[in-house]
This record gives sequence, structure tokens and C-alpha cells, in this order.
Amino acid sequence: MHIYMKTLGCRLNEAELESWSREFQEHGHQLTQVLEQADLVVVNSCAVTAEAVRKSRKAMHRAHNHNPEAKLVVSGCYASLDPATTAQEMGVDLVISNQDKDRLVEIVSAELKLKSMPQLATEPGVNSLLARGRQRAFVKVQDGCRYNCTFCVVTLARGDERSRPIAEVVEEINQLHAEGIQETVLTGVHIGGYGSDLGSTLTELIQQVLEQTNIPRLRLGAVEPWDLPPQFWSLYENPRFMPHLHLPLQSGSDNILRRMARRCKKGEFAHLVADARAKIPNFNITTDVIVGFPGEGEPEWQESLEFIRETGFGHLHIFAFSPRTGTLAAEMPQRVDRETMRKRSQELHELGQQMKRDTLQQNLGQTYPVLIEGKEQNGEVWAGYTPNFLRVAVPCVAGDTLDNQIVEVTLESINNDGTTLMGRII
Ligand code: SF4
Repeated sequence: MHIYMKTLGCRLNEAELESWSREFQEHGHQLTQVLEQADLVVVNSCAVTAEAVRKSRKAMHRAHNHNPEAKLVVSGCYASLDPATTAQEMGVDLVISNQDKDRLVEIVSAELKLKSMPQLATEPGVNSLLARGRQRAFVKVQDGCRYNCTFCVVTLARGDERSRPIAEVVEEINQLHAEGIQETVLTGVHIGGYGSDLGSTLTELIQQVLEQTNIPRLRLGAVEPWDLPPQFWSLYENPRFMPHLHLPLQSGSDNILRRMARRCKKGEFAHLVADARAKIPNFNITTDVIVGFPGEGEPEWQESLEFIRETGFGHLHIFAFSPRTGTLAAEMPQRVDRETMRKRSQELHELGQQMKRDTLQQNLGQTYPVLIEGKEQNGEVWAGYTPNFLRVAVPCVAGDTLDNQIVEVTLESINNDGTTLMGRII
């Protein structure tokens, strides 16, 4: 069969799509990037915001309108939160909840009577990611979350915490490395809770991956700021563990953090960041911030803005508050009007741009190993990321092929829009 896969939302959804891709190929099926060619379409949906739900439904409708003959399978958070409505959507043949996601290929094969032809399996060593021009592999290590931040629908959609055994994660990373992948990202819903059901920890997982694999570059997906033990920072002494961390702050106001039921207050967050920066050179911290959470009056907003400015971040992911059905925050009074939310998002966006430019400035003159991810700007430059996750571009030289290569780059200037470091290969 020809299979078309579409994912929306988080890195965990991407990681799941990548493992389904490999599994379908092992059964002799072919992946296609052309919707109209597909016999089967799989959509991995998202429900983190109202906009994500709109896009998920649009992807389902587009699949059916462009290829009504194909079988349509939908999984992910939108489908899990409302399986009955999803099953009623035009053209949907099968809905697979998040709880059954790891068995998606098995269930689809059984329910839709797919023939398995392992003899036609894609040659070993051909990595579907690299074939699709991707160099960074997301590896699922954990699912679910024990906490209930009042704005979060993910914890409702993904259920209780469950971790993949370390041996399974190590095996997958060794397989990916054997197929040419040089960088993997450990991802999950609440990876700080890794091992809570196995008597293990995230620290042990990282240590074992660094010991039992030769993957050149290991990254972490987002980690909640209340999960990191003091000795965690010593892991970064290993140069294969990339010195960047995405630590969701969500708000810089303690009153709002309390309303969000976040387990980390401003002071603790500031201490954590200062500790990391004191121990790890050129450590890059990026974050998520929700703007316009119910009860965010002008004083709370100014407090939040000031805390974010003082802390300094390499990048800000900014989300306008989106009430999600079933969450406590959706029922909270003191909503912030759309115009105020728009103004605050704009203000934070401008601050984010300045902080990114400051971070790039601080790294000028450094020389880093950069994983080249492909050409940009009409083939004029090669682009990739430093270990501390800063975007870099180097000029292309006729005839050079640097795709998926790790090259030493000296950072010399910042591009006009302040998003990318311009460098020279040494
Ligand atoms: S810790 Fe993260 S995944 Fe868990 S409820 Fe809070 S925001 Fe959601």
C-alpha cells in the first residue's frame, strides 16, 4: 500500500509518526508524500489550542476531499478527547486513541485488513527521515502526565505517565544512528517524569543513552522546571549532550503561576536558570509563555514581562491563552479581551526578538560543531544548528555536499533579521 502520513502539533506526535513510518515500511508498505497517490492516510491530530483543532479537522477534510477512495485513520489528542465526533467526520474509517497509539500499525493492519509483505520491506539502512530531508530524529521515551496544570488539555488527552524501557530507547537510537542519523531528541509529554513507573529517572536514561550508543548529538525535548535534580547539570559535561534546554515558564507572575497550578514559582525558576548558567558555558535556555491567562491584569502582566526580561531567553514560544474544554482554566472568570491579548503578544514578541539577538551576539566569535541540515536562500547557504541550538548559515561553495555533515564553524556575524548567525567553516 501507499501510505500518506500527516502530523500536527508537538514533537511527540512527530516521533510517533516516525516510528509508524518505519513500522509500515517493515511491513512492505511504501510512504508517499503525494496525498492523491495514497491508499491509506494517517492523521496524527492535536488539540493544544482551538487553532490546532481547526487545523486537525482541516487536514482530515483535505484528505477526504482530495482522495475519497483512500482509507482515513485519525489518532492524536483531538481524536482522543472526542472519538465519537471524530468518527463522524467525513471519510474517517478508524479512530485510534492515544492509549492505543503505540499499536497503531498493528490495529490498522487488522481492522483494515492490510496485507503484510515483509519481503517488500524497504532495504535496511534507508532512513525515511533522511529520505525526507530531515536530519534530527525525535525519539519517544515517555507518554502521559501526573500533573493538572489548569490550562493543559494534553494531560487529559494523553492519560497517566508511562515510560519506554531504557533498552528499547537505546535500541531505537542505535538503529537510527546505523541509518545515518547524527542527532536524536528525547521527547514525551512530561519527560521529567520519565521512569516514575519503572523505578528509573530521566538522569539515568540520559546516562544510559550516552553510554550505550555512539549517537554524536543528543538533545532533550521540553522539561518542566520542577523536575531537575541538582546533579542533572553534570550530564552536560559530556560534549554529546547538547547544552540547550526548553524550560516552559508559562508566566512570570507568581499570582498567575498559582492560578495555572504550576509547581515552580518565579524564585525557583530564577534559581534553576542561574545554577545552570553558572555550571554550563554558553547554555541556551528557551521557553513557553502563555499571554492573557484569566486574571492577568496589568500588574501581573508587567510583573511577567519584567521577569522574562531579567531572566533572558534564547527564544520565546508565545501562546495566546486558548480555553480548552475540560480544563479548569476554561471555567475561570476574569478573561482577558482579544485586543489586550494581541497587544501583549506583540510586546512579548518584540522582547523575544531582542533577547534572541542578544543571545546570538553573546556567541559571536565562538567556534562550534554545526550539524548541516540542508541548503537555504535559493541554495546560497547551508543551514544548521549549533550544539546550544542557535541557527547558523554558511556560504555554499560550488560542488560541496554538506547535508547531514557535522562541520566546525566560526560565528562571525548576525543576519539582518537577527535570527541566524553567519559563519565560516574552518
Ligand atoms: S506538566 Fe506539562 S503536560 Fe503536565 S499538565 Fe502541566 S503543562 Fe500539561
